[in-house]
This record gives sequence, structure tokens and C-alpha cells, in this order.
Amino acid sequence: MKLLSSILSTVVLAPVARSLPEDAFPQQPLSEQTTGLANTISSQRDLEKVIDASPLLSFHRDIVQIESISGNEAAVGDYIVQFLQERRFAVTKQFLPREADKGSDDAVTAENGPQRFNIYAYPSWISEPKILLTSHVDTVPPFLPYSLSLPDDANGNSSSSSTWRERIRIAGRGTVDAKASVAAQVFAVLEHLEVDPMAPLGLLFVVGEEVSGEGMRWFADSDLNPTPPRLHTVIFGEPTEHALVAGHKGSLSLTVRARGKAAHSGYPWLGKSAVSAILPALARLDRLGDIPVDDGGLPGSKKLGKSTVNIGRMEGGVAGNVVPVSASAKLIVRLAHPDVELARQRIEEAVRETTGGDPDVEVEWNLYGNAPIEFDADVPGFNVTTVNYATDAFYLRFPTGNVKRYLYGPGSIFVAHGADEAITVGDLERAVEGYRRLIEAADRHA
Ligand SMILES: [Zn+2]
Repeated sequence: MKLLSSILSTVVLAPVARSLPEDAFPQQPLSEQTTGLANTISSQRDLEKVIDASPLLSFHRDIVQIESISGNEAAVGDYIVQFLQERRFAVTKQFLPREADKGSDDAVTAENGPQRFNIYAYPSWISEPKILLTSHVDTVPPFLPYSLSLPDDANGNSSSSSTWRERIRIAGRGTVDAKASVAAQVFAVLEHLEVDPMAPLGLLFVVGEEVSGEGMRWFADSDLNPTPPRLHTVIFGEPTEHALVAGHKGSLSLTVRARGKAAHSGYPWLGKSAVSAILPALARLDRLGDIPVDDGGLPGSKKLGKSTVNIGRMEGGVAGNVVPVSASAKLIVRLAHPDVELARQRIEEAVRETTGGDPDVEVEWNLYGNAPIEFDADVPGFNVTTVNYATDAFYLRFPTGNVKRYLYGPGSIFVAHGADEAITVGDLERAVEGYRRLIEAADRHA
């Protein structure tokens, strides 16, 4: 556990009140917000009115409009901090040391930029949270502006106002991953507190999930996360299309490097091609997930299917007429089997066998690797699924104590990092209900 006293800044510790302040939840019931809207809509302004009329949709719009590509999360963080403080939450801005950025070569790290922080918050009138809802505020690049539209067929007379309202499409970077989860978690907590003001709920919004999980790793090792845990339930928010995720794959991250010797391309025998050296290894690694485990392939599992390999980036050589002196490739393996060590061995064997043990071709591990994660999926009324992407659940583990972990959220991972990232109003609102049902189940379980 790291000592955080110098970098922890407790922003507000409002006096403990025994009952819920009347002005804590200045939102209207949804039923009041939809009245007065026309049956059909004709303009962008009509769509904007729907968003304006809903505190949930407005909050979601506001946090999406603030760009927060990994490394640049401070502005959206400040917005959320203020929003929660106005609702009498005790909010801690948990600053990351600048060094935490250095573990990731993809992060946008401005040396003199705003310092990065996680947000840890709970109602100031409770003593401590036992049920934590958590997601991340960073997004992948590039920034895509917020926009509203309707599906083409939604504007006819056949659509009732409730139907078209739900089908309004909200597009932009982060609308799904993961600002939909952030917004739905905040409003699920606020709505639940209206019914049960003393519910022990907390919120954690971390930075850097899309790069290397530095925000969650920093939180997990901090004194905000004591051992043994005070929490009994953690609800992770990522796009799951409203299903409860029973497990997700693990991951391995590696670079394969080859060294060669430069020469004129007309006399290749005078040099050694690093590209020729690396190609057989990459060709085998590329399909290692499809090769049966008994034939030296990667292990899979019944629950999560096959392990898969992505060769995501390659470099090599300097010019067409020069024998390449170096080559490298970056790979991510999505691991469907808990034996991380076996998977690592299989990869190293594949490289050794295909290169005839060439000492100039090497595997460099970027992290040790993570085994698949199991989640609880025992709350009735949800679809249950598994996913192939990784989450911060790798880093927030509880070796002691009986802490339940759930993974649930609105929107689809299939659009999450794409140019068409978008969610519908209906899907976003439905997630508030989903989180509330998980909170209620956790409260009963306590
Ligand atoms: Zn995400």
C-alpha cells in the first residue's frame, strides 16, 4: 500500500447530516420531462430539447463535450467533481504522481499539462461506502464531437413520441465508452439515495483505463482501498449492452524484435534481413490461437472460447533497396485460459521453432500478463454474457474479504472505439434502471 498523504487532496468533507438535504437531487421525474413534446419532430432543436429536459441526458452531453483523451482528463474530472459537490457528496481528487504516466508509451502525457486525478465520492452524510460503482473518464483518440440524430424511419406518423424519443441517437467520442456508464452510474446512485438516503454507495471514476489502467492501479494500491476491504460490492461500468458479464479474457502484451545487418539490396547475402528473420515468427503467432493446444497453440476455455492474437503494429527497414537492419511488431493476445505462464511459453516456443532458435529474434514482454477475470452474474433478470475486452477489474482485486464484482453497462463495445461511436437515449436511460437493480441486490446481500 502506498502512502498518499502528500498527494491526496480531500476537496470537501461536508458536515455529516442524518437526513438527506432537500436540495440534494434537483432533478425532475422522467414522466414530467417527456410531456409537452410533439409527436413528430422536425428539427435539431427538438432533439436538443429532449436532452435539455433530462438531467441525466444533459449531464451525459456535458461530459462528452469535454474532450478527455487518455492523459487529458482533468477538465472533465473537474466538471464531475463540481457536479457531485453540488449534491453534497464528499469528493476526493486522488492525484496520480507524474511518474505514473511513464509506464505507458501510448499516453498523451503533457509534462506541464494539468495533473491527472481519480474521483472518489460518496454522500457526505454516510460514513463510508460499501457498494462502489466505478468506471473511467478517459477515452481513446480521436475526439469526435457530440451530435444528435434520429434513425431515418423514426420521423413518420407511425412513431409515437415515446418511441422516437428513445431512439434518438447520441454520437461522439465517449458517448458509449465509458461516459454512458459514468452518467448512468451517477444518476442510479442519486435516484437510489432518494429512496434510501443512507445507502452506503460510492463512486470511483478513474483516468487512464484505455492505456494501461494507471488510474485504477493507483487507486487499488492506495489507502482509499484498505485491506481488508470495507466494500462488499463493486460494479464496473463498461459497454455490455445491458448484460451482466460473467467473465472477460485476460491479456498479454509483447513486442517481437529482430536484428539484422544492412547491405545493398542487390547483394543481400552480404547482410542479414531483420524482416526476413521476423516474418516466419509473426506468421505463426498470427494464427497461434487457432492451433490446437496439443500442437503448440494457445490454450482456450469453454467459457471464453479461443485465445486470439492481434499483430497491431509493425516496423522494419529503412528503404526498398536496403537490407533491413531491424524489424519489430507489437502484439496483444486476448487470453481465454487462466494459465498465463503456459501462454507465454507457447509464444516463446513458436518464435524459437519458426526462427530455428535465431538469437537475433527476441520476445520482449511489456507486462507479465493478466489471467481472465471472473465476475458475479447472480442477479436475476439480466442477460449473461462474456466479453473479449479487458477492464480495470484486473487491477481492483480483493484477495481477502468476500467482495462481489459485477460488470454491466449501456452501449455496445462494437462501436466503442470506432468512428461511429453512439448510443440511444433509450439505452442510456435503461442503464440507470440496470444499475439500480444491481445496487438493490447488493444492498439486500449486505
Ligand atoms: Zn471503456
